[in-house]
Amino acid sequence: MFAVGHLAIGYLVAKTLEKLLQTEIDLPMVMMLSIIMDIDLLVPQLQHRGLTHSLIIIGLASIPLFFLKGKSIFPYLLALAQHSFIGDFLTGDGVSAFWPLSSKFYGLGVKMMSLTNVFAEGSSFLAAFTLMLLSKDIITMFNAKKTSLLLIFPLGTVFPVVVGQLAVPIALLIPHYFLFILFSGVLMIWIKNAVV
Ligand SMILES: [Zn+2]
Repeated sequence: MFAVGHLAIGYLVAKTLEKLLQTEIDLPMVMMLSIIMDIDLLVPQLQHRGLTHSLIIIGLASIPLFFLKGKSIFPYLLALAQHSFIGDFLTGDGVSAFWPLSSKFYGLGVKMMSLTNVFAEGSSFLAAFTLMLLSKDIITMFNAKKTSLLLIFPLGTVFPVVVGQLAVPIALLIPHYFLFILFSGVLMIWIKNAVV
């Protein structure tokens, strides 16, 4: 799945749990966790969708997340887990879920450029966008705080699409541009507040 799908589904999952658990989620942290597994693309020695997309990483990540968030850990943990077990399980070559016990990749094999994936990512983005408007999260995002800086990670994943380094289906271009503008705007405000 491309960045837009991961970010949209991560947000939707976290918002659902926020409502169920009657807690308040940290939006930049949710966005960062939704996409952080793809950091393996930047490490030459790491196989994409291997170690970082495995159950063991989710288990290990739960330790610092528990210390940070306590009982409110679940929106964050599921924002992280959905990347591997919804988005990347659905598309491409699947994920090495049980690394290091097994190097086998599990997934449904939906092609990244297929209409099925465009529909899955496009509809997830529309649902997330609508919820961001209705919940006013789109405004809340601009309240600069320490964790706003975490948006560097999701910004880094939509950037290659915006500059034409990564090809995505045409229908997913606008959502990628939108998120690029949103994350850049929030980060610019964060920098302005840090400097002043
Ligand atoms: Zn991934």
